[in-house]
Amino acid sequence: MRVLITGGAGFIGSHLCDRFLAEGHQVIAMDNLLTGSTDNIAHLSGHDNFQFIRHNVTNYIFVPGPLDAVLHFASPASPIDYLELPIQTLKVGALGTHNALGLAKAKGARFLLASTSEVYGDPQVHPQPETYWGHVNPIGPRGVYDEAKRFAEAITMAYHTFHGVQTRIVRIFNTFGPRMRLADGRVVPNFIQQSLRGEPLTLYGDGKQTRSFQYVSDLVEGLYRLLQSDEVEPVNIGNPHEFTMREFAEVVNSITGNTAGTVVKPDLRIKDDPQNRQPDISKAKRVLGWQPEITLEEGLRKTIPWFAENIKNSK
Ligand code: UDP
Repeated sequence: MRVLITGGAGFIGSHLCDRFLAEGHQVIAMDNLLTGSTDNIAHLSGHDNFQFIRHNVTNYIFVPGPLDAVLHFASPASPIDYLELPIQTLKVGALGTHNALGLAKAKGARFLLASTSEVYGDPQVHPQPETYWGHVNPIGPRGVYDEAKRFAEAITMAYHTFHGVQTRIVRIFNTFGPRMRLADGRVVPNFIQQSLRGEPLTLYGDGKQTRSFQYVSDLVEGLYRLLQSDEVEPVNIGNPHEFTMREFAEVVNSITGNTAGTVVKPDLRIKDDPQNRQPDISKAKRVLGWQPEITLEEGLRKTIPWFAENIKNSK
């Protein structure tokens, strides 16, 4: 296959590039480097089957030659990022998805949309199955991301039903691993870096809010299977092991041996922070035969050394 990965220099996009190249496919990574970085794909430069194009997919996308698949992963994805880049976030989710779909249609390529657990908002159903329509505040700080992704799902389904494009939609739950941006402000990079510096970990609010984190290799396996499946409707991919942010802080501190504990930062919680989040993955199990394999602790033991190395290099 010859595949285009938008957001290919991002955290998840670059891991996808690795996987498709390892399977023998040709990969074009496209990224405007707003939140992505060429550091994430530097190891691929000179690879015969790899090409990088710097481009903002909010504008018309031109790719010469055939394409078998378009994987649309371009978007700011951390709450801090979309607070700082609200218009760009809306544009890439709406206009960028439209352009990427238009390209897939023109090339007769299969299309995979990276959607998100944020389409469920601050959920009132727990855990969240794909049949739940969500609880999103359209005008809150997260609305720019949540609504852009909800629009992206709608236009993806419209290209499927109206134009017959072979589309797939994944709803990605919290994911972590090497190549997360050090300063992206999310809880995993924050806690790991604070812990490595011997500082207390910053708990926003009471630390009782929950998340369920999956390691990036599990996500990539799920994405690879979904692209090859026949499932047109959204599929959750995430790890259902749920814990509070306070519990998560304790796990990070115990692995790094940090004795500084935690500190509560009451005002730093971004408005409309979902209180609980856990994927219902029965559908992924049923239609993809997929479930996560890497535990939180195993994932952290692969991720923490990468952060240690990169903090050193960034000094
Ligand atoms: N959080 C925290 N301390 C931090 C960063 C985040 O307690 O230093 C909390 C945040 O309020 C949220 C959870 O951790 O409840 C996950 O936040 P993140 O930004 O990683 O992503 P989200 O899942 O909210 O998109």
